[in-house]
Amino acid sequence: MQKKIKGTNDILPGFLGEGVFVSEFWQKIEEEILNIAGLYSYREIRTPIFENTEVFVKGIGDTSDIVTKEMYTFSDRGDRSMTLRPEGTASIVRSYIENSIMKKEPISRFFYGGPMFRAERPQKGRYRQFHQFGVECIGGDSAKYDIEVISLFWILLSRLGLKDMELVINSVGNTQSRAVYLDKLKIYFKDKLDGMCKECKDRYEKNILRMLDCKVDGCQDILNAVPSIIDSLSQESKDFFNGVKDGLENLGIPYIISNRLVRGLDYYTETAFEIIHGGIGAQSTIVGGGRYNDLILQSGGNSVPAVGAAFGIERLLLALLDEGVISPVDNEPFYFIVLLDKEMEADAQKILYDLRLEGIPSTESDGSRNMAKQLKLADKSGARFAVFIGGDEWTASSVMLKDLKTSKQNEISFKDSDPLSVLTSFFKETDK
Ligand code: ATP
Ligand code: MG
Repeated sequence: MQKKIKGTNDILPGFLGEGVFVSEFWQKIEEEILNIAGLYSYREIRTPIFENTEVFVKGIGDTSDIVTKEMYTFSDRGDRSMTLRPEGTASIVRSYIENSIMKKEPISRFFYGGPMFRAERPQKGRYRQFHQFGVECIGGDSAKYDIEVISLFWILLSRLGLKDMELVINSVGNTQSRAVYLDKLKIYFKDKLDGMCKECKDRYEKNILRMLDCKVDGCQDILNAVPSIIDSLSQESKDFFNGVKDGLENLGIPYIISNRLVRGLDYYTETAFEIIHGGIGAQSTIVGGGRYNDLILQSGGNSVPAVGAAFGIERLLLALLDEGVISPVDNEPFYFIVLLDKEMEADAQKILYDLRLEGIPSTESDGSRNMAKQLKLADKSGARFAVFIGGDEWTASSVMLKDLKTSKQNEISFKDSDPLSVLTSFFKETDK
């Protein structure tokens, strides 16, 4: 038997799938995503699933976890190095520059969604193909855009019904103030490294800021006493961070500050933030984002400030299911055709087609001739009414309907009209 690749998932309809991997839950989230994007006037951007490897190496940073160990990189037939996208921002920045979008509008507000690929150790909430929804607000250097992005996610999660959520913010400063801080970290960790994990030792050499993100128990005491980045910030960065805090307070969005929040991508400047949820174990970060004022310049464009964020749909669903606040979208049919007379197969097919043409969700059985079996399937389908085609009532010009919720039967005559008109009017008159 062929098996799916480790760390990937089949998302199946509700009666076949379970938990996070039920397509009607995904549709619910996608519906809310389109709603919130509309509310905030963000427009969709779709970039290719794979790009030249350089797009990600330059964009995400060659010392980041993603680039050093998580990318799916391969050579194509012309021996060019390609990579399946591990995140969205680098591709969007590539597209922004390539399409000269900065010449077309001062502020661009984009949203995107789709599969991302990272070679990580699969576990609950962490997969090799996962799905993100994200937004980018490109062109504005004011803290009000940071607030806009944060509040968009805050409202989205609130509208979905999530309660246990916490916004965590920090500032990682700009290049200059970060350099000052990195020197402080070098001094602080120098004589403590022996007692730290292998990864911390490695990061000390390659990307010292990322040491703050270590989750290993034995390192926590040392990490908790680390000098705060805020003290090293330039006055400008401090003012900017205060602007973000004031903006959040103005909207009434609660936050906590964590000086250890540095995020996994190298491109952040100034604001970094996460929204976390308590109930889903180790993978508690649902949304991650921040400002990236240097990325567009570094990627070959003009100096254009920007801020963005993204969440993993699987993780959000884990959180919503943990709180029991999500219900699947309703894809259930209104009519289920039960064929009582094999001779009327063609009539039944025509009625089914006409119902669909009228925009009335309808389905039929698997061709089984036994009425009891057909009704069982009708129940399973979630349909509201079974429509019996054939039989004595039909011969006497009336259609029998069975309410599948109450089991009440209902006979409607089509003597003065036709079955389709009767079924169409009944659909319109019934409370959905
Ligand atoms: P983590 O610290 O959990 O590895 P990250 O810093 O790599 O997260 P980002 O690259 O900022 O995360 O991605 C934003 C969001 O995308 C995460 O908060 C999470 O919801 C989701 N995400 C990231 N990696 C995965 C994955 N491998 N599987 C499922 N969801 C993921
Ligand atoms: Mg990661």
